[in-house]
Amino acid sequence: MDSARYGEEFMVWSDLETAISHAVDHDELVLRYQPIISVRTGALEGFEALVRWDRPGLGLLPPAEFIPAAEESALICEIDTWVLNNATEQAAAWISTHGPRSLTMAVNVSGRHINAPRIRDDVANALRRSGLDPGLLVVEVTETVLVGDVLAVANLWELRRMGVSLSLDDFGTGHSTVAQLSRLPLDIVKIDRSYLDVETTASRERFRSMVDTIRAFGLPMVAEGVEHTDQFELLRETGVESAQGFALGRPLTAAEVDDHWLSNIPSGRISDVY
Ligand code: C2E
Ligand code: MG
Ligand code: MG
Ligand code: MG
Repeated sequence: MDSARYGEEFMVWSDLETAISHAVDHDELVLRYQPIISVRTGALEGFEALVRWDRPGLGLLPPAEFIPAAEESALICEIDTWVLNNATEQAAAWISTHGPRSLTMAVNVSGRHINAPRIRDDVANALRRSGLDPGLLVVEVTETVLVGDVLAVANLWELRRMGVSLSLDDFGTGHSTVAQLSRLPLDIVKIDRSYLDVETTASRERFRSMVDTIRAFGLPMVAEGVEHTDQFELLRETGVESAQGFALGRPLTAAEVDDHWLSNIPSGRISDVY
């Protein structure tokens, strides 16, 4: 039987599933929010919600330690829905406290969930409960799971019809990269951080040509994994619209966002840094 390392323990998938299911029901999941910044102005555009599991006695487990197990079953839909509900509620709260401002909230939705009929209701419910403007919700999907799936594509169109923005995550890491750009109803492309390599002329050229390709489809981009100033320079040069990465802001608690990003700061702070 498959086993997964998580925390300090090894567990069989079924035990891990039981534990995750308990976590969803008992509010052991927590969110961190990572800022997304305008490259041109340095202003804060919004956040990506990233889930962690606050496992009693084990500390915060990163998604890599439980999302793959959850994706083995419909449990991932429960996690994603919990994240959708909490992230939209948080975004609506920030907008009403610090607004009016247009602050986007990006949420990762697993391929399995995008493939399920319930995704439409799950997103609609989150929007209704939170009152968040649908245009401020960004649903991030990864390309691998979408290849050739008719229901998934129909569901994406339905989310689009509801006014939600759709973002293709980790672009460049999966299969059939360029084909997806014309086939899917997309609003944003997130370039995977493995492409933001400024070490050699060749790697910079590779990044440039990826940007040119995406731009040919008329899609704005977010570059992931900005860790250094020279990476930010390359984004400026190539005209990539938005950026996310440890150099611009780590995934933060809601309280940290309140204190450091939203209180008395009219725009983001990155322009002070670069
Ligand atoms: P992702 O959606 O591509 O999220 C970005 C990941 O890159 C996050 O890792 C973030 O902390 C990390 N990151 C951001 N900036 C930098 C940087 O400058 N350098 C480096 N090295 N890493 C950076 P995290 O939070 O561990 O999440 C990993 C993945 O787990 C996410 O990748 C996403 O695919 C998945 N995930 C996270 N939250 C959820 C969720 O609520 N639902 C689902 N289905 N998947 C989720
Ligand atoms: Mg993402
Ligand atoms: Mg990503
Ligand atoms: Mg990812």
